[in-house]
Amino acid sequence: MVGFLLILHELEPKPVIDTLDIKQTQVNHSRLAETDFTNLPFGKYFTDHMFVADYEDGEWKNFEVLPYGPILMSPAISALHYGQAIFEGMKAYRLKDGSISVFRAEKNFARFNRSAERMAMVTVPEDLFMQGIAALVNLDKDWVPSAENYSLYIRPTLFATDPLLGVKASSTYKFVVLTTPTGPYFNKPLRVKIETHYTRGADGGVGAAKTAGNYAMSMMPTAAAQAEGYDQLIWTDAKNHEFVEESGSANLMFVIDGKIVTPEIRETILDGVTRDTILQLAKSLGYPVEERRVSITEVLEGIQNGKLTEAFAVGTAATITQIAEIGYQGEMYTLTDPTDRPFSTSIAKKLNDIRYGLVPDEFGWNWIVA
Ligand SMILES: *Cc1c(COP(=O)(O)O)cnc(C)c1O
Repeated sequence: MVGFLLILHELEPKPVIDTLDIKQTQVNHSRLAETDFTNLPFGKYFTDHMFVADYEDGEWKNFEVLPYGPILMSPAISALHYGQAIFEGMKAYRLKDGSISVFRAEKNFARFNRSAERMAMVTVPEDLFMQGIAALVNLDKDWVPSAENYSLYIRPTLFATDPLLGVKASSTYKFVVLTTPTGPYFNKPLRVKIETHYTRGADGGVGAAKTAGNYAMSMMPTAAAQAEGYDQLIWTDAKNHEFVEESGSANLMFVIDGKIVTPEIRETILDGVTRDTILQLAKSLGYPVEERRVSITEVLEGIQNGKLTEAFAVGTAATITQIAEIGYQGEMYTLTDPTDRPFSTSIAKKLNDIRYGLVPDEFGWNWIVA
């Protein structure tokens, strides 16, 4: 009897509890057949629908899944002028058995509200966040790709909508969820530059929040590095530019002396879900893990004396992307062959196997929504 129940439990998807009254307006004509799934630039093609909700008069209302498209708004909204805008990024995968799972959504939900609090914005109730996503992904489930390394990227966003130019926290907000089918984000190992002038996050700043301004400020220094032939930057601490912090939209990991080493989370670094996932997998597989400050000197010396055997960027969009070369003050440091990186290659496989339902989800990371 117990065995039977266990089997049932394993087979049955975790139920999505629909308690919110979500209005549904479906498209007359789906764009799915016209979308070329072999050519999916990141975030360019949206699915047929989106989810929206409004915060007004002190409450959340107008929950609706409706056709994806423009939203009419005042040009005075405070998100545009003063930057009260946050977002999240997570992915839905088509599992081997055909069901659709959203990976570790509750971690993204918790971070979303941490970002909201830092930017003095309203928080989003958990049932609204989760059920809005579930309703949308369920309706557009045919858009979830099935090819290897493909998924449906989910972009929840919250922005301030008070149509007033006074500088104060908005009293109204819009919560929107967009979904976009996606393939591999980077298609080759990266050449990254250690940035020692511009700063992403300072103590007391907003580096730990997934807020729009953190991306706005990164674009000019990143473009300058790209003009020099780099793909991305490695940001360093604001005080002395002595420690590596993270990369563009991904956290950093190294293998040094056989240990998995990653900069510890501090208020200047975004607490990545992929970072946490990889650390948990590494520990479960018996790899030693160190979360601590990592100096530029340690990285560069490690490359030169052979102690640093792997370096890679980890994030939802980027997944696990190898770093091939690191530039520092005009000098280029070449790392080990990116195709011969045993730790990151095996951990990437394990992660993919869980995400696509090829092995049992022993951590309970997959949330079945369709
Ligand atoms: C989103 C993001 C990451 C990666 O976080 P994940 O939860 O793994 O996607 C890392 N750094 C920055 C700056 C980010 O915005």
